[in-house]
Amino acid sequence: MRPSYLIKPALDESYPEIDYGKGTYLFDKDGKKYLDAASGAVTANIGHGVPEIILAMHEQSKRVSFVYRSQFTSEAAEKLAEKLSDSLPGDLNWSFFVNSGSEATETALKIAIQYWQEKGVKSKTKILSRWVSYHGITLGALSMSGHPGRRARFVPLLEEFPTISPPYCYRCPYQKSAPDCGYLCAKELEGAIKRIGADHIAAFIAEPVIGAAGGAISPPEGYYETIKKICDDNNILFIADEVMTGFGRTGPMLAMEHWNVIPDIVALGKGMGAGYAPIAATVVSDHVMEPILKGSKVIMSGHTLSANPQSCAAALAVLQYLEDNQILNDVESKSVYLKNRLDQVKNKFSFIGDVRGKGLLLGLEFVKLPASKIPFDQSVKLTELVVKTGREHGILLYPAGAGLDGLSGDAVIIAPPLTITKRE
Ligand code: PLP
Repeated sequence: MRPSYLIKPALDESYPEIDYGKGTYLFDKDGKKYLDAASGAVTANIGHGVPEIILAMHEQSKRVSFVYRSQFTSEAAEKLAEKLSDSLPGDLNWSFFVNSGSEATETALKIAIQYWQEKGVKSKTKILSRWVSYHGITLGALSMSGHPGRRARFVPLLEEFPTISPPYCYRCPYQKSAPDCGYLCAKELEGAIKRIGADHIAAFIAEPVIGAAGGAISPPEGYYETIKKICDDNNILFIADEVMTGFGRTGPMLAMEHWNVIPDIVALGKGMGAGYAPIAATVVSDHVMEPILKGSKVIMSGHTLSANPQSCAAALAVLQYLEDNQILNDVESKSVYLKNRLDQVKNKFSFIGDVRGKGLLLGLEFVKLPASKIPFDQSVKLTELVVKTGREHGILLYPAGAGLDGLSGDAVIIAPPLTITKRE
């Protein structure tokens, strides 16, 4: 037999083999138990081994697992689209199913550009975004991502879409404090639009709470209202990348609901299939679909496995499970409890500079000196060390931070399944 190798994230590391998962815990084949305090990658939102989801997938697989989207539709896909529009705010009624968050944001990018083309405005092809952001690993999604570490190898292939500062209050570029900051970071968007020209900008994309690149950086109240107004005033679509925050991760279905902002297009992923099946979605509002319906009537995107019934059945069961068990109702109280406990931990350890986030998407940022917020030297690889030590002690954390020298330091995300109990 020839040697075979599974390509793992770090090729010189060994990873424990997980045998099974139950609720908030994972168990490896040596019987070691891990508290999944990060829901994997903020994905296993309802915990592991939930019988209702397994049953729904089994039932679907007995009927049919795959039909090709260009030839057929399926009951699972139709019902999922219907249930999604019932669950989402505003006129977000058109669901395009894909398989990963990267595909969802990249599809959003394409739809935004197509929207303007169908309206006869061919020059609007740029998508603005923020430094300190992550929208995915495929080249279009990476072009929109303000994540220097993940961009580095591919810079010649990427558009430079990240333009403005993030609402990173802990390291405010203007040395201001909310709520009296005047949202100067949001107003940078106005300046960028003037510089580039609204005629060239199709959309602005943002993660409501900055996840992988920053470690649960949550904006001050009023920030997104300001952003949305600037977009509307300049004829620029607003895309909310709710891949990490959607499906109740911060309490409501969309994090944007905290601020009563309805995006023109939204990208969903992660918690949508909750880890049971790869599925993500780009959900488009009626008014964005309108010129496409009047025009070409075809969205120029799609993947072989888009809208496959197996994944749609899983996502449908996840939505039903959230509803039947009223899971989202308890997110806020669990968040307050966990955040208080993390604040207590912060008081004990001087290297924890900031505790932040929204709902059950919380983050800790580590600093060498809390008073000056000076980050640890990158060579210390502190985030890696914390995550590794956590795993050795049976607690799973999600590493974050964009590796921007002096801007975004070391951070971890704590985002347990929404079903976690206070005792756990
Ligand atoms: N958008 C956000 C906000 C994310 O957090 C991620 C992944 O971490 C993505 C997009 C990309 O999703 P995926 O890894 O499923 O392609």
